[in-house]
Amino acid sequence: MDLELVTVGNELLLGFTLNTNARDLARTLAPAGVRVVRHVTVGDTAAEIQDAVVSALDRTGFVIVSGGLGPTADDLTREAVAEAFGLPLEIDPHVLRSIEARFARVRPGQPMPQSNRKQAAVPAGAQVLENSRGTAPGLWIDRDGQVVVLLPGVPRELNELVRAHVIPRIQSTGEAARVVASRVLRTTGISESALANLLDDRLQAVTEVEVAFLPSLEGVDVRLTAAGPRTVVSLALDAAEAVLRPVLGAHCYGTDDDDLAALVLSMLRSRGASLAVAESCTGGLIGARLTEIPGSSDVFLGGVTAYANAAKIREVHVDWDVLTAAGAVSEEAVRAMALGVQARFGATAGVAITGIAGPSGGTADKPVGTVWIGAAMAGDVAAVKRHLPGTRYEVRRRAAQAALDLLRRLLAD
Ligand code: AMP
Ligand code: MG
Repeated sequence: MDLELVTVGNELLLGFTLNTNARDLARTLAPAGVRVVRHVTVGDTAAEIQDAVVSALDRTGFVIVSGGLGPTADDLTREAVAEAFGLPLEIDPHVLRSIEARFARVRPGQPMPQSNRKQAAVPAGAQVLENSRGTAPGLWIDRDGQVVVLLPGVPRELNELVRAHVIPRIQSTGEAARVVASRVLRTTGISESALANLLDDRLQAVTEVEVAFLPSLEGVDVRLTAAGPRTVVSLALDAAEAVLRPVLGAHCYGTDDDDLAALVLSMLRSRGASLAVAESCTGGLIGARLTEIPGSSDVFLGGVTAYANAAKIREVHVDWDVLTAAGAVSEEAVRAMALGVQARFGATAGVAITGIAGPSGGTADKPVGTVWIGAAMAGDVAAVKRHLPGTRYEVRRRAAQAALDLLRRLLAD
């Protein structure tokens, strides 16, 4: 089944609020066989809302609208949609009582503001979708098989209404036999274009799935998407993964929500190994990635932010001569940092980063984005130089991911 989304709110157009409802709706509806074919964002203006809803309904016959159901005068969705379809609005006594009861529970002793009354207004013939997390109920309007669903903008309320009411109703129409499903093959350490080249002649073999390349600071995700009956879809995704994954080889570190830090921790854990990190330009980002993972303490011993030259010398025992001869951003320095932190913590593995995150500090032979990454395992040290693109924010995050990736590749060998 195809449908369109209309998200309503000036805050979305002004960029004050990220439109997470569009993302959440599309992602949670796909497994129920719903393909979101278009979404439109409009401001809090009755005419804009009406125009968006009516034209979306003309195309697909099914529209989900989020936002504009609040109690204030700038929330107009309910009124605008009722007017567009000529449906009178009436206060539903049952809804009103449940809003009053919610107020009594959440703010005992305070009267319900008069403005909340309008949240009990229901367009004639609409079905009320009870909102267990807030005052504005969802509304399901069915006009001879054409459906408009109004949902509140507050993400936690919207998501609960979708789970509790919208998906079960869609599934009861029998559409559920069809699903839209995706699988993501996560890669890192290879550019989008190199990846596309690598896969180029295999892509013809996977006609049953749509393949998309999604670059981010963590690497490039290859997303496979298929639509159809549930069993056919999962076979198609398995088949496509079986064709593409061997070509991706070591560049691929996992699927779907797999995280590189979690993977590195479990690789180390299975060897009974421990890890310490020395970070210069990333200032603790690798440590943050590792400690984000619950249970990391049995592997990750700790780290030092060795930012100034003096700290590189004092904390991880880099030689002054190395820093003066080769510089703080050099192969020699990163090797010394990795070995130094490994020894200092008594860890099996030591990882180090030193680089130029910018925007200043670059030179002709060491431009901004030059990052040396080192990993010491037992008595060996590997070091690689990377040229990472982007802003300071981006270079630092790419560097943390690249360091975790170096360790992963060493552990996989
Ligand atoms: P509303 O139902 O329009 O009163 O929305 C209430 C609140 O929900 C807004 O102030 C926003 O913070 C949030 N919100 C509304 N629409 C969205 C959206 N599309 N994505 C994320 N948050 C939203
Ligand atoms: Mg609003």
